[in-house]
Amino acid sequence: MKNDRTALVTGANKGIGFHVARLLAAEGFTVHVGSRDPGRGERAAAEIGGRARPLDLDVTDPDSVARAAERIERLDVLVNNAGISPSLGGPAETGVEDLRRTYETNVFAVVEVTNAFLPALRRSSRPRIVNVSSGTASLTWSTHPNPQFPPGSGRSAAYRSSKAALNALTVLYGLTLADEGFKVNALAPGRRATDLIGSPMPDAGDPAEAAEGAVRLALLPDDGPTGGFFSWDGSAVPW
Ligand code: NDP
Repeated sequence: MKNDRTALVTGANKGIGFHVARLLAAEGFTVHVGSRDPGRGERAAAEIGGRARPLDLDVTDPDSVARAAERIERLDVLVNNAGISPSLGGPAETGVEDLRRTYETNVFAVVEVTNAFLPALRRSSRPRIVNVSSGTASLTWSTHPNPQFPPGSGRSAAYRSSKAALNALTVLYGLTLADEGFKVNALAPGRRATDLIGSPMPDAGDPAEAAEGAVRLALLPDDGPTGGFFSWDGSAVPW
């Protein structure tokens, strides 16, 4: 396998994204460690070592996205990992502003970043896009027994609907880029102990384990799936 492969992980200064960047670097990639805070990006890249490089990137700032895209000539793997979950209420407690804020990062920014890096990805012989979604976005799991949470919970409406929109876009990117050899897939990382919701989540697992799922999708062979939704362990997640 060529050892000049390049990857970008957004929001890689901590949490799941940090471990995805670390594992891709261990696979031999030059990894651009995206962070909206330059200092934390530099520290994360230094901790990963090897071919990790800090990249200033605030995914919700179009100027920042454009500047980052100008710096990268060719990209083999884009991991859209940056995400937020600022409001936990059901739809009745969720204002439009909560929706807008959540969608800015989890949906609109993914489109902004993906489209900005498409020229670089098109220079790859094996372009891969991994969108870090959530099993809580599965409409099937929301209404049936599932490994993520009790069915019938309508909480975290802004977050879950944003990731459902991300899943829809994953399907559409998968369809439209298939002829060019792209594999575009969504990942359900499972419940992980990170800063995402600001308080400890019961039964949360190791974020490093979730990162293995992202790497599997980043390394998909040419006959691998596209436009799919997969758990960190590789099993398919229902929409
Ligand atoms: P963290 O809060 O630990 O990490 C989120 C990362 O996203 C941080 O690096 C954060 O940067 C970054 N980020 C947020 N907004 C921006 C922005 N505008 N520009 C650039 N970076 C940004 O959470 P996780 O590691 O848990 O989350 C990673 C992904 O996994 C998210 O998409 C999340 O929705 C998803 N996920 C997580 C689950 C879990 O249980 N933890 C379950 C299902 C999905 P900063 O440090 O500057 O805030």
